[in-house]
This record gives sequence, structure tokens and C-alpha cells, in this order.
Amino acid sequence: MGIRQNTTSLKKRDSLLANPTFQFDVLQRSRFESEKFPEFSQVVLKHRQMPLKRTKLQILQLNLGKLCNQTCRHCHVDAGPDRKDQQMSKAILEQALYLIEKYSIPTVDLTGGAPEMNVHFRWFVSQCRKLGAHIIDRCNLTILNAGKNYSDLPRFLADHQVHVVSSLPHYNKSRTDAQRGEGVFESSILGLQKLNRLGYGQPDSDLKLDLVYNPTGTFLPASQSVLMPQFKRKLKQKYNIDFNNLIAITNMPISRFLEYLLETDNYENYMHTLLDAFNPATLEGVMCLDTISVGWDGTLYDCDFNQMLNLKSKLKNPTIFDLDPDTLEGTDIMVHQACYGCTAGAGSSCGGEIV
Ligand code: SF4
Ligand code: SF4
Repeated sequence: MGIRQNTTSLKKRDSLLANPTFQFDVLQRSRFESEKFPEFSQVVLKHRQMPLKRTKLQILQLNLGKLCNQTCRHCHVDAGPDRKDQQMSKAILEQALYLIEKYSIPTVDLTGGAPEMNVHFRWFVSQCRKLGAHIIDRCNLTILNAGKNYSDLPRFLADHQVHVVSSLPHYNKSRTDAQRGEGVFESSILGLQKLNRLGYGQPDSDLKLDLVYNPTGTFLPASQSVLMPQFKRKLKQKYNIDFNNLIAITNMPISRFLEYLLETDNYENYMHTLLDAFNPATLEGVMCLDTISVGWDGTLYDCDFNQMLNLKSKLKNPTIFDLDPDTLEGTDIMVHQACYGCTAGAGSSCGGEIV
């Protein structure tokens, strides 16, 4: 099933924004002196009287690479079909398995790009499963229809009890395709139906299927409790699709969404939207507290967003080969202006709303 791409990667276009340092400068507003936004780190101090610090590690998030069969407009990773340059190696995945087993890390969260396009994906999932870890696959759904190499992927995910967290910005075709590419909606529906037939998202089934909603413009997501019944009703009525939970996430002002904000002259307005909706209660639940994010080359970050801004974890040797999960608790987190995206309204994390 064909997809017509909406755009190309920033890297392919040699965009200045392909450079994480340039993105960081934009966020720190050194290039936009007309208005300074309050430093996120100072706002945290004001509300908590101390910086954000890690709690016990619960989730090892691995970004398997930026290769993707889609090129969505809002992508914070700058993923796309051309991004074959950064794929996580087997050596790094072997080190991850060592850590998962030794430290009984409960959850392994696989992201990308399309994580399934990493050649080691199936081997790694099988090994994690043997260790009893809860495995999350952040699946774009269209990969399930991406030709013969992936035709048995839904069955593989089901056989390995993988928790599928799949992106579907809207139950409306035109809104989804506008963000993700023409043909994405139809292919996503087909992917969801395949998963449903295998038991995903069905009552009394252990196979969990969640949907990720993100706004199609420069606004904050409505609440999950409002969106989820709408999605359930519309998808069931029209396509006979079931799923477990809907996760609502805020678009982060990073990478291609940052490009969109700048091109449409919406950057300052969007930052104001995030700042005005700052909710201090979310600070106690941001995902960087109990997650560590591993880049394709084994470098450690506090979250996938920091990874894209090349803001390494503050650990002495931020690499998976020197990671000791027992020493993470109480260590500082690298915060910056894009963190306002996690703390607006009900908050936003890989698991959806925070409060
Ligand atoms: S948002 Fe997801 S599916 Fe879209 S290009 Fe980025 S990684 Fe691929
Ligand atoms: S952007 Fe990353 S570091 Fe900042 S609050 Fe969100 S999860 Fe934490």
C-alpha cells in the first residue's frame, strides 16, 4: 500500500535545523532576542526548590535508528526513508540485554524511526521476551503493510506479547494524511484491523494496543478522557476497530515541528501556549524521572527529545557501556526550554497525560 510522503528529512534538505545545536540555539532564543522566555530550569527551582532528579529506573528506551517508511511533518526525530545512517548495532543491543537481565529492568521501550526496520529488531525482541521484560513497540502502523519483509510482523508481535503503541493523529483521514502523508490513514486502519484479528485490543486479551494522538496544529491536545471515547466510537462504527487506551501527547518544538513553527511564524505563539499552560504538578511525573534513553550509538540521554537536541545525560560517562542503573537515583536531569512541552496542561510523556 503506497504512501505519498509529505516532506523529506531536514538532513536530506541540508536544513540548518538538521543541526541539533542550531535547534538548541533557537530554543534558547539566542536568535530571537525580541522576547526571552523564562528559563525552564529556574521555573523548576521556583516550584520544587530543587532541580529535577531521577528516581528508580523503570524504563530503558532504545532508539533503534531514524530509518522510517514515513516522513511525517511533525516528526521530532527527523526520521525518513533516507535515514539509513544511524542504526543501533547488535553490540549495543547485547549490552542492553545484559543490563535488562542484571538489573531486572521491567520495561523496554523501542522507538525510532520505525524500530521494526532495524535489522536486529526481531532478534532483540525475542531475547527481551526470554528475560520476561515488558516490551513496548512504538509502531507507526503502516510498517505492518510495508511489503513482504513485514507481512508476518503482526504475528511476530503477538507471539512475543509485545505491547503495541501506535500513532494515529486522528480518526479523520484528511487530518491524519495531512500530517503523516497521503495513504497513511488507510494503511493505518488496515494495520489496526490486522492487530485486532490477532487479539490486540480485544476484551480479555493480554495483547495491548494503544493509540497515540497528537494535535495536527499549534494547539495543546484535548484531554484523554474526552478524546478516547470519541476515537473508540468513531473507529468502531466505521472500521470495527478496538483498542485499549488513547495516549494524548503534545507536539514538542523540536526538529520538523520546530521547522513548521518557524516557517509559519508560529514559534513564539506556540511557546507562549506552552508557557501559559505550565502546570507545576506535572513536574513530579515527567518521563525523564524513571526512563533513560539510549541513542543509536549507545549514548545516554534523559529522554528521546534530549537525544534529538544532542543534550547528553549529565552522568560522568553517558554511554550504555558504563551505565549502572543502581546509581541513577538522585542524579540531575538535563532540562531546557523544550521541556515546557512536557509540562503544559495535563502534561505529556510517552505514556500520555501526566496528571
Ligand atoms: S513521526 Fe514516527 S512515523 Fe512519522 S516519520 Fe517520525 S518516526 Fe516515522
Ligand atoms: S523534554 Fe525530556 S528532560 Fe525535559 S521534561 Fe521532558 S522528558 Fe524531561
